[in-house]
Amino acid sequence: MKNSTISWTHHTLNFWSGCSGKNCEIRADCYAAAMAKQYGWNFNRVRLTSDGCWSDPLRWNEEARREKKSYRVFVSSLADFFDDQADTLRPRAWDLIRQCRHLTWMILTKRPLDVPKRLPPDWEKGYKNVWLGTTITSAETMKRLGQLSQVPAFRRFISAEPLIGPLIDMPLSKFHLMIVGGMSGPNWKKYEMNIEWAKRAQEVAKRNKIAFFFKQVSARKDGQRPDALGRIYNELPSGLYPWMPMTASEIEIPAEFLRVPPSEAGAFGERSVPAVSERTDLL
Ligand code: SF4
Repeated sequence: MKNSTISWTHHTLNFWSGCSGKNCEIRADCYAAAMAKQYGWNFNRVRLTSDGCWSDPLRWNEEARREKKSYRVFVSSLADFFDDQADTLRPRAWDLIRQCRHLTWMILTKRPLDVPKRLPPDWEKGYKNVWLGTTITSAETMKRLGQLSQVPAFRRFISAEPLIGPLIDMPLSKFHLMIVGGMSGPNWKKYEMNIEWAKRAQEVAKRNKIAFFFKQVSARKDGQRPDALGRIYNELPSGLYPWMPMTASEIEIPAEFLRVPPSEAGAFGERSVPAVSERTDLL
């Protein structure tokens, strides 16, 4: 059962909440900070979430195992997973992520330079159930793409959300998915996305043969007009096989197991765009 209203994920999970705002171009209008203010807690300090947040993934993992699916989990909607304030908490999160191999963990950060020193010791080329992503909001923040490209990962994704300025053409050979969307909430007008920026981003994704997911236009309410580009784009890269070894050294993976046959792509990863076998950088 999906717990998230975000269209590109099944679940949203926060191991901790709060954020220093480092590298964040929309810090002044952060929805999580506004929520914290409403409830009277200090958003600048990271704090652990409830036990329930830590046990939910075990339940989702079991459901996914039973249903032969891999549910996507968006990590840290109210924080940045690589915030240095969370350095003592993160190893416990990595343990759970590693344990829940039927879940596809989508970890998004605005601090790709901080990622390498905060990966677990057995990360190697990246856990097979983790997609690392970075947020870009306009051409000014696109240097994060090059920075994340340097980090080993099984899948990398771009979240151009909220898109608040035009992007420039970019080489995306190390990426597998681009998500684009406009801002929702009370500040949507201040950061209104020009639909032409989204169209150009879609063209770039197409040219680079990576999956493209258009979430919404800028609007007060979430999820508005997902078909604003002429049709619905909800492509996703192929997911993992839950029985895959988590790290390269656990076992040598036969090349054919890295391919997602079309007949099985629906069960484990929805659409395969492009097929893993076409991406030599993954093999
Ligand atoms: S990085 Fe995310 S959580 Fe942190 S201030 Fe920016 S929008 Fe808010």
